[in-house]
Amino acid sequence: MCGIVGYLGNQSSKDILLDGLKELEYRGYDSAGITVLKDSNFSIYKSVGKLNNLVEKSKNLSVDGFSVGIGHTRWATHGKPTESNAHPHIGEATHIVHNGIIENYQELKKELIAKGYRFSSQTDTEVIVHLFEENLKSSKDTFSAFNKTIFQLDGAYALLLIKKDEPEKIYFAKEGSPLILGTNRETGEQFFASSDSPLIGHVAEVIYLQDGEFGYVDGKNINLFNGAGDEVEQVYKKLPENREIAQKDGYRFFMEKEIYEQSQVVSDTIMGRALDSSIEFDEIDPTIFDGINEIKLCACGTSYHTALASSYLFERISKTRVSVEFGSEFRYKDPLLTKDTLFVSISQSGETADTLASLKMAKNAGLKTLAICNVDNSSIVRLSDYSILTRAGVEKGVASTKAFATQMVVLYMLSLYVAQIRNNIEKERLQKELHTIREIPNTLTVTSKLHEKIKRLSKRYLHGHGFFFIGRDIFYPLALEGALKLKEISYLHSEGYPAGEMKHGPIALADPELFTIALLPQNILYEKTKSNIEELGARDSTICVISPKSFELADDFIRTSSHSHYMLEFFEMMVVVQLLSMEVAIRLQNDVDMPRNLAKSVTVE
Ligand code: GLU
Repeated sequence: MCGIVGYLGNQSSKDILLDGLKELEYRGYDSAGITVLKDSNFSIYKSVGKLNNLVEKSKNLSVDGFSVGIGHTRWATHGKPTESNAHPHIGEATHIVHNGIIENYQELKKELIAKGYRFSSQTDTEVIVHLFEENLKSSKDTFSAFNKTIFQLDGAYALLLIKKDEPEKIYFAKEGSPLILGTNRETGEQFFASSDSPLIGHVAEVIYLQDGEFGYVDGKNINLFNGAGDEVEQVYKKLPENREIAQKDGYRFFMEKEIYEQSQVVSDTIMGRALDSSIEFDEIDPTIFDGINEIKLCACGTSYHTALASSYLFERISKTRVSVEFGSEFRYKDPLLTKDTLFVSISQSGETADTLASLKMAKNAGLKTLAICNVDNSSIVRLSDYSILTRAGVEKGVASTKAFATQMVVLYMLSLYVAQIRNNIEKERLQKELHTIREIPNTLTVTSKLHEKIKRLSKRYLHGHGFFFIGRDIFYPLALEGALKLKEISYLHSEGYPAGEMKHGPIALADPELFTIALLPQNILYEKTKSNIEELGARDSTICVISPKSFELADDFIRTSSHSHYMLEFFEMMVVVQLLSMEVAIRLQNDVDMPRNLAKSVTVE
């Protein structure tokens, strides 16, 4: 999920690795580590927190002459951000670094433990190194063992492996997580990194490894194979020259990059959790729901919208009563707290002051607590009895996008999990929902056709006396989120409203300068929402309809795909409102990533 670097050559590999990891810092991380292999001797250093700790720890190591090295910044998905969980992970004579998630690590771990392997971390990654060494016993050579190992892994990985008795080689594999290989043909140096920026200045051209590709490098050759085991052509691309653009992967803003990343990060969120016929969360004990009659969801800002949206799902799917609280309100309202309530706090950073204070109150009242959070070891995670990580990776844009998407997916899965352990859901329905969850990453893929359409359309929405985002059911919290996105970055006044409530007041504002952005899904309350939009149209509001079905009276229309489940429509429309807000803000020449008056992690009351 976070960052990998690798180096083979005559420069100091320690320095190249540490400099490379510095270039990857923008991706966020909780711990880091490096191994240098020189003349069959490993030197390994790991540390928690900032890279400077690693620099300090490894300061006495000096590397002269040829060596190989691998380095890693970790964004914990399995196991706390501790030194023992930091990478590289080690076997008898092998070190590896890995980004991603090994979905079948538990089965593999069980088998390896039965064979006598001892694990020194809680990570999914550690299985790879022991599995490789186990395979080595029955393989004709290292490459066959490596090949066999990666074929046994399910999930996502970018990984580098080095071996004591082959101190001139680096083995690599890529599936789902990024990995780039750069070669300096004159010096025979080989570089690996998970994004362009560590490679800039070292090589001019790189190979962007494709999913399924794996192989090994030495000072002379690159041996590159595809998923079928056939040798593949090495396709070189020119590296960008500007580091800042490289960090944004060529996107104009981090927010744009993060919108495009959603499909990938949501795949990570789902991995190992939405299984063939059930939902599993390794990190929680199902007995947490014993005796629970109410789930209280507490959050602020965008996270409050995922709380509100999921309240529809918890009641509908898991038949469990839910209440939703703003952290800033809850903490001062002398709430009535009873021990049959599970207190769930939702926060991207895990440091949101109001949510944290509310969590402390719930704990003091003796409630069981669960955190839905993107940052392991954050205050909210540390304080909660259990936590589920959203696996969004670092989010740089102040206006949250991928954090919202991943929280929403976790809460959707949690509602199914609760239904499952309470036997409130029929097998067939569960299968349908699981299928829907697996489809979500596809709905989040941004097509250039959609983006272009929204870009063009945005020029008509730069003024007016206000925006109303409207929707019904779970599309109402999505409308709230759309309105929040727009106001955060465009500074235009916008509100989210339940479509059916407009006639109880806000419709008085309707005129051509009032812009209505209407969410009109086909799978839930289609006719009802349609009538509400028509009511606004009849009062001359300017209307932009987002729907898979044509809408004659709309001034503007954004067509979404036809899906069989309203949650797939939810996620596709989420992308539409995010892009629309961003394009309006870009046209208004605002700093989309750092909007005025806002901070990323709100650690003050
Ligand atoms: N799943 C691995 C871990 O938790 C790798 C995480 C990462 O990509 O940083 O250690």
